[in-house]
Amino acid sequence: MGFFKKNNQNDENQTTIVEELKNKISHSEMPAQVKDIALKELDLLSKMNSSAAEYTITLTYIEYLTSLPWNKKTSDNLDLERAERILNERHYGLYGVKNRILEHLAVKILSSNRNPRILIVDDEEIARKNLEHVLKKENYEVVTAQNGTEAFKLLDDQEFEIVLTDVKMQGLDGFAVLEKIKAKYPNTKVMMITAYAAVDSAVEAIKRGACHYIAKPFKIEEVKLSIKQALQHRLSTISTRGSILCFAGPPGTGKTSLGKSIADALGRKFARISLGGIKDEAEIRGHRRTYAGAKPGRIIEEIRRTAVANPVLMLDEIDKICQDFKGDPASALLEALDPEQNCAFIDHYLDVPFDLSGVMFIVTANIPDNIQPALLDRMEVIEFSGYTEEEKENIALKHLIPKQTAEQGLTEFPPEFTREAILKIIQEYTREAGIRNLERMIATICRKLATEVVKGKKPKSSVKVTPELVEQYLGPRRYYFEVTDVKNRVGVVTGVVWTETGGDIIFVEAAKMKGKRELILTGSLGNIMRESAQAALSYIKSNASVLNISEDAFEDHDIHIHVPQGAIPKDGPSAGVTIAMALISLFTNKPARRDVVVTGELTLSGRILPVGGIKEKILAAKRAGVRAVIIPYRNKPDIENLPENFKKGLEIIFMEKIEDIVSKILI
Ligand code: ADP
Repeated sequence: MGFFKKNNQNDENQTTIVEELKNKISHSEMPAQVKDIALKELDLLSKMNSSAAEYTITLTYIEYLTSLPWNKKTSDNLDLERAERILNERHYGLYGVKNRILEHLAVKILSSNRNPRILIVDDEEIARKNLEHVLKKENYEVVTAQNGTEAFKLLDDQEFEIVLTDVKMQGLDGFAVLEKIKAKYPNTKVMMITAYAAVDSAVEAIKRGACHYIAKPFKIEEVKLSIKQALQHRLSTISTRGSILCFAGPPGTGKTSLGKSIADALGRKFARISLGGIKDEAEIRGHRRTYAGAKPGRIIEEIRRTAVANPVLMLDEIDKICQDFKGDPASALLEALDPEQNCAFIDHYLDVPFDLSGVMFIVTANIPDNIQPALLDRMEVIEFSGYTEEEKENIALKHLIPKQTAEQGLTEFPPEFTREAILKIIQEYTREAGIRNLERMIATICRKLATEVVKGKKPKSSVKVTPELVEQYLGPRRYYFEVTDVKNRVGVVTGVVWTETGGDIIFVEAAKMKGKRELILTGSLGNIMRESAQAALSYIKSNASVLNISEDAFEDHDIHIHVPQGAIPKDGPSAGVTIAMALISLFTNKPARRDVVVTGELTLSGRILPVGGIKEKILAAKRAGVRAVIIPYRNKPDIENLPENFKKGLEIIFMEKIEDIVSKILI
């Protein structure tokens, strides 16, 4: 008896659950096709035994479907001035970056929010007026012209998303209008309308570039639908290239925080997905439901978490996804990012399309060259190259110190950091392109101060953070100016490489010893750098007399080239000239100036070819206290494009041939 009662209770429970889900489905604003699927699944669920494994899987699935923000969007705040103010208040410097972001926002705002403008060209007044009336009701801005000549004038004055033109007209006809638009306004879509619905003129119109052809008498619903489709297509083709912002640069240069500020400026929700640690395509686009423990992918999951369909979604470290991956994560991302496809993004778990076209994607990368070309093609890369010492000082004063003071509970009695103390932290406790460690060090100091205040060891008010206090709290200095603090030596030349974390100074060391003319290379050198070393040696051997090196200097000797700091992987051709100079210094027995840095690719004939990452390299040279930088002549435009404060205090020498720099480096 008891058994039956229990079963009845179960049935009741199940019926309630099914009813609740039905309710949720009807309130979830799902698209009709998704609703059908959800209801079908619900029907299956109602027939299942609630203790079956399938039951829980189906129940979770339906609940997941109802929990998604199918049609929920925050409305954008389109005040560009406010956006500019927010960016300026929260981020010091980065002028170029901010300007490009504002331009990007302006274009986005214009193209996605203006009511589409339609031009109707027809010599028949009733037809013109009727269409105008109907389309205005649809919230389009409508302008009319009674012939081709009038249309031409209007086209010159303003931009139209769509032109609806009659084919047969007095004077300039519909084909002439089409031709002019195709030649001058490629973003405008043209639709042809005619009473003479001859198939061949329809085909001809499409051939010449019209997007659609409508025969009179037409159904107004058909025209409305065609316009909607044409507008959608136009938006997607316009925004296909470069519509996704890619922030590229070393860590700690403000990429993530700027992304967050863009979201705040637009009044959108913000979410972040780190692609760096992701191992499997399924993490991006979910597992199929048949898979045990199946889950949706991170993209859909983050959207659910933000509870809106149009957040700013930041995809971090997109350049780290191509290596040793399961499945094809790049193509999953492409589907998510590509405006042509992402209105129907399929997550394997959901198994129904989700519209991602409202999401504003921002991706970040340390090295944009490592991004797959198909993905890179859809991005507008904005470079964050790192900060000068002066910028770091100002960011610390205006942003990091107030922020850390508040976070460590010192708001009521904020300590005063002197400029000397900040400079000491930057120079002696950090060596970075960004300001991550600087922020960490400031946090440490604030934390220690807070502890001492609590213990009563420090007065509550007017505490001054001086260089002495910095040393007391942070311990012995961590970095030295290896360039100026150490003596010049034979066979050791200063170079600069470009790494993921910005630029870095290296010292190329060359030594010779009795042996069998072998070339030994050590110090985590990549293949290209090894080849550069061989090329440098060949150049020197074949030009020994010009360089005042005796021909038999290479007899019975091994040569060893070493680049210390094995932890930094080094590769690329730009150390070619540095290696050659180390060898020349070794064989001519002349010490090299340590405070002169040289970068450039070397050819076998001794010419110096241009190299990349000049901005980062100049910043790294300044950080290390270098006096002069020798760079390839053909990199001159890169230097000219740099802001003055990047170059201040640094002598920059341009060179084309290696013979010319010997006297600049060797003493
Ligand atoms: P990234 O994403 O490039 O690694 P973050 O955005 O995480 O860098 O920045 C690290 C820290 O530095 C954050 O606390 C951020 O607020 C701060 N920061 C970076 N650049 C600036 C800047 N230009 N102005 C103010 N604060 C900055």
